[in-house]
Amino acid sequence: MRKRKKRKFKTFLILIFLLGLAFIFYYIDKNDNDYTDKEINKKLKELGYKEDSINKIKELNLIDKINVYSNNLEEALNKNIFNENCIESYINLNKDFNTIYKLCNLNYNDSEIKEITNNLDSDTINKINTYLDKLSLYSTHNNFILDNYDRYNNYEETDIKKKISYVNVNLDYEFYENIKDSINTNNNLVLVNKYYKLSEDYINIMDNISIECAVRYDIKLETKAKEAFEKLCLDAKELGYKIVGVSGYRSYNTQKIIYNNYLKSDSIKNVDTYSARAGHSEHQTGYAIDVSNNNLPYNKFGSTTEYQWAKDNIHKYGFIIRYTTDNQYITGYKNEPWHFRYVGIEAATYIYNNSITLEEYLLNNKEKI
Ligand SMILES: [Zn+2]
Repeated sequence: MRKRKKRKFKTFLILIFLLGLAFIFYYIDKNDNDYTDKEINKKLKELGYKEDSINKIKELNLIDKINVYSNNLEEALNKNIFNENCIESYINLNKDFNTIYKLCNLNYNDSEIKEITNNLDSDTINKINTYLDKLSLYSTHNNFILDNYDRYNNYEETDIKKKISYVNVNLDYEFYENIKDSINTNNNLVLVNKYYKLSEDYINIMDNISIECAVRYDIKLETKAKEAFEKLCLDAKELGYKIVGVSGYRSYNTQKIIYNNYLKSDSIKNVDTYSARAGHSEHQTGYAIDVSNNNLPYNKFGSTTEYQWAKDNIHKYGFIIRYTTDNQYITGYKNEPWHFRYVGIEAATYIYNNSITLEEYLLNNKEKI
């Protein structure tokens, strides 16, 4: 009997002990929670968050992600427009709230928003109105143009840099399709090619090239181009080279006659590789000149010592050799060592140093268009 009582008492003691232990643990735990909560409030308050925001931060379990004050986060919390995919952007990205809000609502995630806002200007971002899955990838290339997005996607080229560049210079279109008006008209960066045309009545201010540098008196160039060409011609002369103008400015109608004449004895496909259709000739700009060494016909200029000098020197005068075998896939023209185009010294030097075309120089550079 006594033994039984003793055992009961023992069990009772153990129970009390366990209860006590549970109570202690519960208490410690509760205290601990209280402590953390207080710390969190303190930390967020110190960072500058308002009471309402602090409650929402706790509700949404964002505490671990926050180490700084973010106006954007507070604004997002207050407007109750929280999207989990772009939490980081609201917290850490130091960009305009509306921009993040917009991209977030279009379903771009944090890393996409980071790329897009870092790489695209606000005008471009303003134009985005739907989710484009390759936008953040394309945007890392600084020649990306939003309007060309679908064309990039449709153009088969695995190298993204090339894809963007080639579409920008219209290689996804056939020559003489999707023709637009020339850009930069009336300045030396005017673009005239198989995709960009001049109007029938387009004309610039022209001057006759001095007879020392031309085969006839009536060869005209735009005034600045004329001065640059004469300087080139005279400097070349000092070095013992003869470079003279054979054909400069040509009107729309003259070009029409020339092109149609070729058509009488050759196919369109062939003619298009060496003669421009009316409105598509650089000669109409007054910035292009065909040259010879005054000895051989102009189309033999490529075999002269003059050409050997010219190809590495005319950029110093603002000219480029516009059509080469290497760039035929862009320009559509066969090698024309005799066709010099005035673009100004800065552009000519850049184009020469980088072995690119005027098309690439202009259309891969938003500031130049
Ligand atoms: Zn020419």
